[in-house]
Amino acid sequence: MHAETSGVNRRAFIAGAGAACAGFGMAPRLALERAEIAITLDLEMSRNYPTPDATHWDFEKGNLDDATKRYAVEAAKRVHEQGGRIHFFALGRTMEQPDVSWLQSIATQGHPVGNHSYDHVNVKAKQIADVQFRFKRAPWLAEGKSVTELIADNIRLGKTAIKTRAGIDVSGFRTPGGFPNGLRDRPDLQRLLFDQGYTWVSSLYPAHPIGQAPTAETFRAIVAAQSEAQPFVYPSGLIEVPMSPISDVTAFRSGHWKLPTFLEAIERAVGWAIDHRATFDFLAHPSCLVVEDPKFEAIDLICKLVRNAGKNAALVDLGTIAARAKQT
Ligand SMILES: [Zn+2]
Repeated sequence: MHAETSGVNRRAFIAGAGAACAGFGMAPRLALERAEIAITLDLEMSRNYPTPDATHWDFEKGNLDDATKRYAVEAAKRVHEQGGRIHFFALGRTMEQPDVSWLQSIATQGHPVGNHSYDHVNVKAKQIADVQFRFKRAPWLAEGKSVTELIADNIRLGKTAIKTRAGIDVSGFRTPGGFPNGLRDRPDLQRLLFDQGYTWVSSLYPAHPIGQAPTAETFRAIVAAQSEAQPFVYPSGLIEVPMSPISDVTAFRSGHWKLPTFLEAIERAVGWAIDHRATFDFLAHPSCLVVEDPKFEAIDLICKLVRNAGKNAALVDLGTIAARAKQT
């Protein structure tokens, strides 16, 4: 009996992401029937794009420029034509723009749109000025609210704005910014999201080295970090669907990488996920990619890798990953 049990566990441990779980007292994850590959795009303006001096977006993250919106629409079309979905995350502030039909057309094509808060708030902020640049410059917008209330309201308003203006029911919540420990340290935030109707969150982005001239060791470390980016269920029951390194802004803005280096890292990371029947959640921003990857090479590469993997991989949305994570 002992031999049988340990045989199964050992196999699961080798195939699964044992390292991700080792420090947190969770059971090792079983390998999936097929790798789950998600493409997610956060619809917001990124600092230092489209030009290095652009910082005013800090105060209006949701005021998307036309190039960003066009990139999002074209990316959705390309992935749709290949039978897949992109999981988008939108800000409530974007719903103040004169036209939201481009987002509606994306949703009509079958791509889910999640909530990314109204103003791109730091959900772990401890004071009003740290919640978002907008509240630092204009603290009266938060007048009378505690930090907790301001954050809760901003998350709630994001969903309300997307539903009211675009008629889209949001699919999940992604925290602005990623946290190496996700929401493990914040059961109160897990509860807050539950209370607002969410069953899953995408908040964890594992730590990994970047390096301005990436070496073989940099790539190895990024691949190693994939096991830290596998979905799991918090003790509260909220499901975490992490973001998988390396994101576009990390590579291009923080690391000053060039596109071929980014593509190589993506290919290796997705390759790991396919080989290990694991999950990969590509995180990128049309506002950054439209400058750094104008020909959609990263997205096309991911679609190609999934296609070439046949029945061993599928392009899925985060809701699908979350539902599966709950069962395993
Ligand atoms: Zn964001």
